[in-house]
Amino acid sequence: MRPLIAQDIKSLYRAATHSELGLPDLSSVDWGVLDYLGWVHPSGHTAYVVMEVGMELKAIRLRRALATEGPPRTQMCSWCHHVYRGRGTALFTTTVLGSDGRRNIGNYLCRNLDCSLRIRNLTSDPPTYLPESLHVRNKIYRLQAAVLTFMARANVLN
Ligand SMILES: [Zn+2]
Repeated sequence: MRPLIAQDIKSLYRAATHSELGLPDLSSVDWGVLDYLGWVHPSGHTAYVVMEVGMELKAIRLRRALATEGPPRTQMCSWCHHVYRGRGTALFTTTVLGSDGRRNIGNYLCRNLDCSLRIRNLTSDPPTYLPESLHVRNKIYRLQAAVLTFMARANVLN
C-alpha cells in the first residue's frame, strides 16, 4: 500500500488523539509488503485497520480479545488463513449499527495483525500448522477480499 503519515491516519479516525490511537512508528513501516496497515494499541484491547479501497483509505476500529482461558486450540486467521496451534489468534470485533439495531461482528485474526507478512513468508514465528501451495498473488487477493468483506459487513465502505 502507499505510505501514510500520521495526519492521514488521524483524519480517518476523527477526533482520535495520538494517544488514543497508539500509533506505531510509521517511519519504520515497510509499506511495500503491506496489504493493510494494522496495529494494536499498547493497551492491547483496541486495534486499528486501514486499507486502500480503490483510491480511498478505509479505516476501522476494533476491540481485541485474547483467548486466555481453556486449553490452547488450533485456530486459523480468517483473513490470511495462517493456522496456529495454540494462542496465535485473537477475536477482533466491532459493533454495527443497522436497520435491525446494534450487533457485534467479529473475526479470529492474527493477534498482531501481521497477515501481510505471513502470506509473504516474511515472518515464520510461529510457522503455520497447515502450509498451503497457493501462489502469493492468490493469497494477497484472498486477504484483501477478506478485509473488504469484513469492512462491508461493518458498514465502513460507504
Ligand atoms: Zn492473519
